[in-house]
Amino acid sequence: MEFKKSQELYNKGLVNLVGGVNSPVRAFASVGGNPLFIKKAKGSKITDVDGNSYVDLVLSYGPMILGHRHKKVQKAITKALKNGYSFGASTKNEIKLAKIVCDAFPGMDKVRFVNSGTEAVLSGIRLARAFTGKDKIIKFSGCYHGHQDALLVAAGSGLATLSLPGSKGVPEGAVKNTLIANYNDLESVKAHFEAHDDIAGVILEPVAGNMGVVTPQNDFLKELKKYLESKGALLIVDEVMTGFRSKFGGAQELFDVEADITCLGKVIGGGFPVGAYGARNEIMEMVAPLGGMYQAGTLSGNPIAMAGGIATLTELKKQNPYEKFNEIAQIIEVFLLESAKKYDVEITVNRFGSMINPFFTNKTVTNFEDAQTSDTKKFATFFWAMMHNGVFLPPSQFEAWFLSSALSEKDIQKIAKAIDKSMEAVSKM
Ligand SMILES: *Cc1c(COP(=O)(O)O)cnc(C)c1O
Repeated sequence: MEFKKSQELYNKGLVNLVGGVNSPVRAFASVGGNPLFIKKAKGSKITDVDGNSYVDLVLSYGPMILGHRHKKVQKAITKALKNGYSFGASTKNEIKLAKIVCDAFPGMDKVRFVNSGTEAVLSGIRLARAFTGKDKIIKFSGCYHGHQDALLVAAGSGLATLSLPGSKGVPEGAVKNTLIANYNDLESVKAHFEAHDDIAGVILEPVAGNMGVVTPQNDFLKELKKYLESKGALLIVDEVMTGFRSKFGGAQELFDVEADITCLGKVIGGGFPVGAYGARNEIMEMVAPLGGMYQAGTLSGNPIAMAGGIATLTELKKQNPYEKFNEIAQIIEVFLLESAKKYDVEITVNRFGSMINPFFTNKTVTNFEDAQTSDTKKFATFFWAMMHNGVFLPPSQFEAWFLSSALSEKDIQKIAKAIDKSMEAVSKM
């Protein structure tokens, strides 16, 4: 397998692009080597500029849940393109996508579309503050909520990959109202409430995906919600990654917990830049033009993105691939555990619906501290062996692998074979 053209483009890209990439998670900093340049993708496969084809478990970090270029989505956006790209005024499709999203979330009466997950969360946080009249927000160590200043502390994901504690350029003032708690540890939340009386709410990933996959243990989410209600604080559920991934709607429903404010992104745009935040009427009526919380966007509700989102969610509802996702994830888990045993490599596998990943550690992983016990050198070896065996993974120990409904039996066999080869490579380190 050669990466000559990717290498050439990377060298050229370094001149005018920062590190040759437009998002640091695409850099290969923690696995070594150079980032891939992609030529095209179709269905479950992605092809780089050297012509290497891989089963894609990155899926643009989540959005491509139907696989690439699903024909219904392609048709919908082609049709939308004929009418224009952006109008600065409302279109019918915004109402349609809003209805699909609100119907899928029991606690959501109204929604506002934005252009990214980052925007969705920063607006959701502003809304929680506007509604409660309080300033402080609790976030969990290892949860990532986009790159807004206030939440760029202990933020897992790309920062963890690059071993950055936080981001430079974030002033102390921007994070002075951010409190950090430990995932799966309600006591750490209570301690903050005992020390502060101006907490607007708690934000979390209902299943964390940005420190690798970490699921809520026992009744963590339910207990958290109950506690917040007793304190008059809001639960802000960041479903940018989990929304429509493990069920049609939110992970919160699977855990029988209703968010006060829900943030969305990724899947709801089907590969186009769409984010959203929503809540019950009483809360959403705070947002301009109905209320005094300002939030705006030149390209928000973009007609092409709306068409892509509607087509993706409509097809997803029809396919209802969630049971199949569970089955495939379970099969991959068994492959991982069996090959790890065969080659005597210590791993822990976490999964939830269509999100799964192994941690190269002997610890159970229920929070960021556990995740960080992983041997990232082993992951790097594993990553490259998977690539050479035709499976494209996120280049980081701290990212989830995603499944698409386009995966075939043959793809799964290919993943199995690659796992065996890659685990063998790790055992030889
Ligand atoms: C990806 C992600 C974000 C940020 O979304 P962008 O579209 O990258 O800005 C926020 N929260 C979670 C949970 C995410 O996974």
